[in-house]
Amino acid sequence: MNPEFWFTEKYSENCGFTFKVKEVLETNFSKFQRLDVLDTYDFGKVMLLDGLVMLTQRDEFVYHEMITNVPLFAHKDPKDVLVIGGGDGGTVRELAKHTYLNSITEVEIDEMVVDAAKKHMPFVGCGYDSEKVNLIIGDGIEFVKGKKEAYDIVIIDSTDPFGPAEGLFSGEFYANVRNALREGGFVVAQAENPYYDTKWMMRSINNMRKAFGDKVECYLAYIPTYPSGMWNFALGYKNEAASGMFDKQRYEKLNLKLRYYNSEIHKACFALPEFVKDMLK
Ligand code: SAM
Repeated sequence: MNPEFWFTEKYSENCGFTFKVKEVLETNFSKFQRLDVLDTYDFGKVMLLDGLVMLTQRDEFVYHEMITNVPLFAHKDPKDVLVIGGGDGGTVRELAKHTYLNSITEVEIDEMVVDAAKKHMPFVGCGYDSEKVNLIIGDGIEFVKGKKEAYDIVIIDSTDPFGPAEGLFSGEFYANVRNALREGGFVVAQAENPYYDTKWMMRSINNMRKAFGDKVECYLAYIPTYPSGMWNFALGYKNEAASGMFDKQRYEKLNLKLRYYNSEIHKACFALPEFVKDMLK
């Protein structure tokens, strides 16, 4: 009889999320982190970095559609997009559907993540098939230093704020990102959750506020395999708030076949529960 193998990501000392694993497809180490790719019964392929879930085959669409389409359809005329992190390819896969973009640049620090996604997770690794995607292997913190008005949207698709990603949550980094944005630009960052990682969530938002002042807003998406299932995105803007903007004409013309994002979600995702509003005060 085969023993059962379960993987648990601990959210606190007392609680976590557990998958029953069919097979470990890869375990690997780079100078930055440990990577595991699992095949699981209920969530398909799962990528872990340092033991934390980065994405699962079953629900990755929520995160990737929401980190891209909200700023893209809020922007009046996006042309050039920069992604920092995002090595699995899911974010650039969504961006490539916006065929009007001139350029999509991704700066990912760890080639091991890109290689593993291409090998085991073609549903996201396919993001690199688009000719418009320019992948740079390097540190996003260094890459944005000194950039001036080069991008319309910057997407920070990072790991949690430890190791190489820690600086991606700092005020200095957000100030450099602000300089890299053109007028009318947006930065969006995955910003943890309001149940387990409230310290990190607030640190990220408060550091973004250091660079963008009161021009920071948050939106939520529901992702079962991220801690608490309620995921927060922090959005900084140079001019007008994204929550009040939506390019209906471009949305209807593109007619994207998506599974989570739509015009109603674009508006609704900015509606925050009272306890989250209280945290943000
Ligand atoms: N969707 C995921 C989540 O929220 O859990 C994040 C996915 S993606 C795999 C995160 C990527 O950020 C990793 O591949 C990691 O190597 C990359 N990363 C971390 N620090 C970085 C840095 N300083 N510059 C560029 N990429 C970085």
